Amino acid sequence: MISVRDAQAHILARIGTKAAPELLPLTAALGRVLADDVPSAMDVPPTDNSAVDGYAVASADIPRTGARSLEVVAELAAGAVFAGTLGAGQALRIMTGAPMPAGADTVYPQEIVERRGDSVTVGPLAAGANTRSRGEDVQAGALVLQAGTVLRPQELGVAASLGLAQLLVRRKPRVAILSTGDEVAEPGSVRKPGQIYDSNRYSLRGLVEGAGATAVDDGIVPDQFDELHARLLRAAEHADVVLTSGGVSVGDYDLVKAVLQQAGGIDFWQVAMQPGRPLAVGSIGSAHFFGLPGNPVASMLTFHLFVRPALWKLAGRRELFVQPFLATAVEPMSKKAGRREFKRGILTFAHDRWEVRTTGPQGSGILSSMTAANCFVVIEEERGDVSAGETVWVEPFQPL
Ligand code: AMP
Ligand code: MG
Repeated sequence: MISVRDAQAHILARIGTKAAPELLPLTAALGRVLADDVPSAMDVPPTDNSAVDGYAVASADIPRTGARSLEVVAELAAGAVFAGTLGAGQALRIMTGAPMPAGADTVYPQEIVERRGDSVTVGPLAAGANTRSRGEDVQAGALVLQAGTVLRPQELGVAASLGLAQLLVRRKPRVAILSTGDEVAEPGSVRKPGQIYDSNRYSLRGLVEGAGATAVDDGIVPDQFDELHARLLRAAEHADVVLTSGGVSVGDYDLVKAVLQQAGGIDFWQVAMQPGRPLAVGSIGSAHFFGLPGNPVASMLTFHLFVRPALWKLAGRRELFVQPFLATAVEPMSKKAGRREFKRGILTFAHDRWEVRTTGPQGSGILSSMTAANCFVVIEEERGDVSAGETVWVEPFQPL
C-alpha cells in the first residue's frame, strides 16, 4: 500500500519536461499557461493623464479660499496632446484619459466649476487631485506576468495594455483516452445482455478538457492481450499521456498490468484510499501512462488526485493542486482508519459557515453521486468515524 501523498509525489517526479512552447494571439490564449516571464517594455499609463472630465490647472493657481477665474485656452480630447505649456492664470478643458498638459498638475471635475464663455471659476482643491500618474499601473521593466501563470481574462487585458498582441504559451498536452472491458458498450449502440454503457470515456474526456488539455478518443478496447497491446502502443504515438480505465484490479481479465509490463515501464500501486485503490502508473513509448480503476467514481477521483496535477505540471503550471478548505460536517460520516476516504459532498454556506453533507450512498459505482455533489470531502488516514459538528477538509470540484 502507498499513501495518496506518496503516490502524488512519485507521479509528479516522473514529469520531467514541460510541453513545448507556442506563440498564440491573445484572442486564442485564454486558459493557456505562460511559458515565459513577461516584463513590461513601457509605463502604463504611458503619461500622466486626467482621471475626470474637467479643467487642468497649475496648483499655483488654486485659490486657498474663495474663488478665482482662469482663462480656458484650449480643449483637449482623449488621445489629443496639448502642444504648448499652460501659463499662469490659464486652464485647459480636458477629457478623461487625455495626457496632462505641460505646466498643469491638477484637474477640476467639471461638476465643481462654473464655466462662462472662455473663463472658468474655480475654488479650493488639493494639489494633484484627479490625475493618474505615468506608470501607476505598470512600470517599465517590471515583471508583469510570471511563467507558469494561467491566463485569465485579466492577464490577457494586462498583456494587451503593454501593447503585446501575442504570448508564448505551452502547447496543450494531448491525452488519449481508452476504456477497457468486454462488458463496456458504446452509448448509442445496442447493448448486449451483460453489457453496461461506457461512462468513463465521457467523464474522463470532460475532466481532461476541463484541465486545459486536448482529449483524443481512442475508443473501447476488449479484454484481449494482443488488441490492448496494439491499441496502447498506437495511442502512445499521438499522445503525451495515455489514459485507460478498467483492467487494473486483480480479476482474470485485468490485462493492463500485463500489457504495460511488456510494452513500457509500469508501477502498479495499491493506494490507501477509498474509493479507487488500484492504480497503474508508468510510460508507454514516449507517453506517460495512467491506468485508472474501472469503477466510474474511482476513475474520476483518481483523475482528480493523480492525473490533473500531472497534466498541469506538463502544461507548465505553477499551482498543481486545488486548494482544500475546512467545512463543518453536518451529518456523521463513517470512516475506516488507515486510508484516505473521499466522500461526494454537497457544500453550502449556511449559518455563517461552510457546511458539508454527503450525497447519500457512496458506492464507487454510483456515478450519480458525482452529479449531486460539488466537492469531495477528504477524511485523512488517521481519522475514524466523523461525528456531526466536526471539521473536515473539502476539495471543490474544478469549475469548468
Ligand atoms: P475493472 O477494474 O475492469 O474490473 O472494472 C471495475 C468496474 O468498473 C466493473 O464493474 C466495470 O464494469 C466497471 N467499468 C469498467 N470500465 C467502465 C466504463 N468505461 N464505464 C463504466 N463502467 C466501467
Ligand atoms: Mg474490466
